[in-house]
Amino acid sequence: MAYIEAPQKLLIGERWVEGAGRIIDVENPARAEHLTSIAAATVGDVDNAVAAARHAYTYSWGKMAGKDRAAVLNKMADLLELHADRMGEVQCLDNGIPLEMSKAVVRYLGADLFRYYAGWCTKITGDAFNTAVGLKKMDFMVNTLRDPIGVIGAIVPWNAPAGMIALKVAPALAAGCTMVLKSAELAPLIAGFFGELLLEAGAPPGTFNLVHGYGDDVGAAMSAHPGIDKISFTGSTEVGRKIVQAACGNLKKVTLELGGKSPMIVFPDADLERAIPVLAMACYVSTGQACMAGTRLFVHADIHDEVVARLKEHVKTLTVGDGMLPGMILGPLISARQKERVLGYMKIAQDEGAELAYGGETVNSAGHFVLPSLFTGVTSTMRIAQEEVFGPVMAAIKFTDEATMLTEVNSTMYGLSGSVWTKDIQRAFRVARAVDSGQVAINHHAAVSPETPFGGNRQSGWGREFGKEGLDGYLKTKAISVRLD
Ligand code: NAP
Ligand code: MG
Repeated sequence: MAYIEAPQKLLIGERWVEGAGRIIDVENPARAEHLTSIAAATVGDVDNAVAAARHAYTYSWGKMAGKDRAAVLNKMADLLELHADRMGEVQCLDNGIPLEMSKAVVRYLGADLFRYYAGWCTKITGDAFNTAVGLKKMDFMVNTLRDPIGVIGAIVPWNAPAGMIALKVAPALAAGCTMVLKSAELAPLIAGFFGELLLEAGAPPGTFNLVHGYGDDVGAAMSAHPGIDKISFTGSTEVGRKIVQAACGNLKKVTLELGGKSPMIVFPDADLERAIPVLAMACYVSTGQACMAGTRLFVHADIHDEVVARLKEHVKTLTVGDGMLPGMILGPLISARQKERVLGYMKIAQDEGAELAYGGETVNSAGHFVLPSLFTGVTSTMRIAQEEVFGPVMAAIKFTDEATMLTEVNSTMYGLSGSVWTKDIQRAFRVARAVDSGQVAINHHAAVSPETPFGGNRQSGWGREFGKEGLDGYLKTKAISVRLD
């Protein structure tokens, strides 16, 4: 494919430049085949990208009227739709996500995010109010302005790169910020499209800059960079901590979208006909490489055996294979290393006494495949119930008492997503309210839409993305006060 064969460059201002840093070997995880090599950015390239972003923030994008920014973002949405098939193919080859889903991530999530945030560009306003100041009750009027934070450093993971990139770029640009984005070393290829298409959509050079590179040098240089005003990071909790430490030099703002260990809570009156396929996909979609994956199945003792039996039947229908082939539902894991990690966790689960009810095996193929897997007899203190595996592994935990179950639900360091399955409306809301996470769905799992705020409690993150809160993260408030008496 021509796009993959062409050299992958960095975008700095309007120039596509070859990196001079370490070589990144890009692999197709479904075949364990080399796709291309990329020369990563150097720290000097990062400096140049930051300077280009600062220039655009100061002189062009940061000064543009909201309606003009909206026009660019709307055009970008059109271009993403136009190129969704080609982009979806690249993402499938690079990341392993099955083709139809890969295209849908670009066409729906990607384009929809740009269109949604385009709408906000003309609606960013402050407030005005009267106030009485001090003992003398001086008469003041206060006006607040909502200004863009400035130059944003975005660091994204490999697990759904088009969605992750759109989710950083659209709200930041809507706010009037400019950006330097680092692609994920394990799935960097789709990022170049965003650079190309944003320029085509009319974003002035420097509005969006792209660097490829490894986290421990390029990512670290961005996190510590004095010219970056904010880091917007999606990735693991472990790296999130490193970013916070690196950011303390210039006290840049940081938002973090981190890992999860999300619960799915199933009561005896749940509509299992509807629930079973959703529960399965909530855990196994993207081969479990999703931050909001429902990896802990809290299932009431009265229906435990039935739910497990029906899940096993359903999981058999989930086709596993190269996502470029028609009809595949689950693709490979991203790398040989990730496969070893997932298999390692399954061994730990068995060593700790959990029972393998389904899966647990690799597939006879060069690619990094692991079958969707289900463990029963899991207790909440086991590592399989506490730690993020980031693979297709569901842990079923039996419960009887609602209060005890909720204590266990909230016993991990994470709090990202979750779901409650019952027809009893009081119980549904009571339990949803008690789950300590940024998002909980009732009789579904995780509503991902541009309007719906998403983010983590506890060590699942800082701040929210999507929706108005996602925009707020790129704005700062200034209060201008005037004494009138
Ligand atoms: P990761 O290892 O934390 O990497 C994420 C990004 O951070 C990559 O671009 C990585 O660079 C970079 N990075 C690594 N070390 C760094 C450092 N010292 N300083 C700055 N940047 C650094 O995560 P991942 O394995 O790619 O992705 C999986 C994780 O992301 C999971 O924990 C998952 O739950 C989480 N995630 C969360 C959400 C959410 O919305 N909450 C969404 C998706 C994924 P490289 O290119 O070298 O890897
Ligand atoms: Mg790859």
